[in-house]
Amino acid sequence: MTEGPLSVDTLVERIVSSLAPLRDFPMPLTEVLGMPVAEDVVAEVSLPPFDNSAMDGYAVRAADVASASPEAPVHLPVVGEISAGRAAHLALSPGTAVKIMTGAPVPAGADAVVPYEWTDRGVARVRIERAADLGANIRRAGEAVRSGDLVVEHGTVLGPRHLGLLASVGRATVRSRPRPRVVVISTGSELRDPGTPLGHDSIYDGNSYLLAAAARQAGATVYRVGIVPDDVRSFTEALSDQLVRADLVITSGGVSEGDYDVVKEALRGLGTVWFGQVAMQPGKPQGFGVVGEDEVPIFCLPGNPVSAYVSFETFVLPALRTLMGRTPASRPPRRARLTDPITSTVGRRQMVRARYGTDRGGAFVTPVGGHGSHMIGDLASANALVVVDEESSGVSAGDMVQVLCLDEDF
Ligand code: AMP
Ligand code: MG
Repeated sequence: MTEGPLSVDTLVERIVSSLAPLRDFPMPLTEVLGMPVAEDVVAEVSLPPFDNSAMDGYAVRAADVASASPEAPVHLPVVGEISAGRAAHLALSPGTAVKIMTGAPVPAGADAVVPYEWTDRGVARVRIERAADLGANIRRAGEAVRSGDLVVEHGTVLGPRHLGLLASVGRATVRSRPRPRVVVISTGSELRDPGTPLGHDSIYDGNSYLLAAAARQAGATVYRVGIVPDDVRSFTEALSDQLVRADLVITSGGVSEGDYDVVKEALRGLGTVWFGQVAMQPGKPQGFGVVGEDEVPIFCLPGNPVSAYVSFETFVLPALRTLMGRTPASRPPRRARLTDPITSTVGRRQMVRARYGTDRGGAFVTPVGGHGSHMIGDLASANALVVVDEESSGVSAGDMVQVLCLDEDF
């Protein structure tokens, strides 16, 4: 079975349309940072819930202090004290004052708070040197949020301020989704764990760290399995062990045309995983499908670190965002002025590592490093990918190009 290379867009479309957001549940607020909310949240309490003092001072009737001035202060007996969270149900009789702390409920009958600064801070009797307007220094019930208000709209991606508001209106949980659980497996008999000695023919496993971090940054809960040797049995065992805790699996390596391309060898027979070529550079060999009884989506990425990363950005990120219910699935490109020329092959989409920035001429982007997809040093200094589309044989310096800004949230 031979099939010409798939276009990037075709494969992305296949991936995204085969997936649906994970089921939503009431989730604890501590679990949902960065996740979209799956309900319209309506406040069931008002904020503030009761009229309360905005200052430390004395609750009074404004009329009783209307004539107060430094020359002719008003003296009032202090008949009680109310502090935040320790408030007896007090009512204020005309001609008296009650000491009150910030956040404490204003007693019935009081209609202004005189701050300490305008008084002698008296304990049994207070000397007040300024008049207070009606309502002065009182925060009214419902002033910030009214019971029944829509406080967070369905689909909002929850940030710290939303979570603070949800907690403030008394929500312990909110309907959202669990983070997708992602299993990351590196394949390659040449791979060693960082921190262990290298042999004459071995290299460190960078990819499982790279892919695990990228998935985590996208919002997933990640299980980094690490290295599996190029042996079909070891790989099959490792994969089936992991499937129980996976909503999505990412493998790296073992998908090209070599003799020991273990991922392909192990999965091709299942008939549920497509392996083939994508018209993209880097990242030509790809595998995508489902595995196990639960039909867990699996992405079989090429082993070269740059290819693996570009493949993650192009194919896995949209999948994760779909599972999370986030839109758009793919990163929207920006436009920027290219500072150096790029040559490209017609018929393939080229993804060029680059640095994006802005100057007085607007947004610009500069390619970094060489073409080789093993050049991980260049990858770390890039913050963007220039997308040179399939029809193009190259782009000149000064041309406007499409850029994916890799560190940007969207
Ligand atoms: P493969 O796709 O397995 O043929 O691997 C392509 C190239 O990427 C080979 O040079 C591998 O040694 C290298 N490679 C594979 N996996 C990793 C990894 N986890 N970390 C770094 N390099 C890798
Ligand atoms: Mg390999």
